Amino acid sequence: MGFEEVRFEQDSEKAIHNKPLQKALVNVTNRFRTARNKASEDVPNWDNLRAAAREIKKETIENLDKYLLMLEERVKRAGGKVHWAKDAEEASQIIVNIAREGNVKSVVKSKSMATEEIELNNSFEDAGIKVIETDLGEYIIQLAGERPSHIIAPAIHKTKEDISKLFSAKLGIPRYDKPEELTKVAREILRSEFLNADMGVSGANFAVAETGTIVIVENEGNARLTTTVPKIHVALVGIEKLIPRYEDLSLFLTVLARSATGQKSSTYVSFITGPKRSTDIDGPEEFHLVLLDNGRSKILASEETRESLYCIRCGACLNNCPVYRKVGGHSYGWVYSGPIGAIITPQLMGIDKAPELPFASSLCGACKDVCPVKIDFPKVLLELRKNVVESKKGSTGIGERFGIRLWRFTVEHESIYKITNKLSYYFQLPWKGRNGKLNSLPYPFSRWTDQRDFPAVAKKTFRERWKNNKGETG
Ligand code: SF4
Repeated sequence: MGFEEVRFEQDSEKAIHNKPLQKALVNVTNRFRTARNKASEDVPNWDNLRAAAREIKKETIENLDKYLLMLEERVKRAGGKVHWAKDAEEASQIIVNIAREGNVKSVVKSKSMATEEIELNNSFEDAGIKVIETDLGEYIIQLAGERPSHIIAPAIHKTKEDISKLFSAKLGIPRYDKPEELTKVAREILRSEFLNADMGVSGANFAVAETGTIVIVENEGNARLTTTVPKIHVALVGIEKLIPRYEDLSLFLTVLARSATGQKSSTYVSFITGPKRSTDIDGPEEFHLVLLDNGRSKILASEETRESLYCIRCGACLNNCPVYRKVGGHSYGWVYSGPIGAIITPQLMGIDKAPELPFASSLCGACKDVCPVKIDFPKVLLELRKNVVESKKGSTGIGERFGIRLWRFTVEHESIYKITNKLSYYFQLPWKGRNGKLNSLPYPFSRWTDQRDFPAVAKKTFRERWKNNKGETG
């Protein structure tokens, strides 16, 4: 399941015709949207909170070197170990080595997009180490051998019937149809996995530079078990997850929970500073923080797109995106989907691997309107589109360049423009349908008409109508 070239156009077309998926997408994203809207309306100064969160992330990202060193020093002071990973391979290697040194046979994992990004499960399996996802959604997609399709609801694309069949086939149990029965099955299996695991691997929602604390928010309690029961805890954290001060947390926890699920607070919020102390009765004996770059420094170097690193992974932009809501997460080809996937995947993986993604947006700005850190998606998307066009893969063909030059010549010459306008009505007639649209143009224009409406050119030009109506076009 390694990263391959993104095939947004083909995959989204399949998704659009998948009826159960369409139903699931509408149901779940509507539920999240309604909850988020209500939760944000209940906070009188919501927009100011978002602006403040953006300012703090901006300050952090602009001074990331300083805060990363501070974090490293504070984690070490608390008894933890810090590892720096320049890419996915190095991060996986570091974590597998920690497991080998600790004689680890079995690993439990809590939900973490960073571990999905580096495909850590494959590395554990290659090393002969058993690994189990403990977030229910992640457990489902691990059994199915799939990628998450939503940042906070990884199995959003699965119906309860799908899950019932999957559990029965993979776990050798009878078919259960009620969600609570399926949850009970998973809970019973996972409980014993927690108790037998030698290592717990988590991500982090935030890493606080001034205290060396990592903060994990969740609703199932599995992350708390993952980080406290096994004797070794490893947290894989992207370098952009920092916030400078402990006091900043109250703001970020407020905007994160409301933006993600509409909750005032997530059910469990864990604050982890180093391994267990000598006075603690339980907790992990070792705490390792692995700081992951994997392309983030490249994003940091770009003034135009740097704000992509402000993301706190709440998922609100996905739930509100008219494109995501139709095509689902797998169309984006990698672990990050929706608007954040459209801007972060091409930057992390290279624009040549995902040239379609910056165009997977109508630029309506719904994502920007709900983002708790106010990422200016349309601006970043346009910048990335420019990069795609300038790169080899996105360069326009001779036909397109000729067409654009011809169009420019025409609009620069009034008399030619008038004649072309008139002629285009007659030229289009072979393709004009009764519905007032051009139904099926020949290739390559069929790429447009196969998927979208193409209104036919009107018989009367705008100028003629304007003249006839003496300025009233109505
Ligand atoms: S980009 Fe903004 S809205 Fe989207 S997941 Fe990140 S923080 Fe949430």
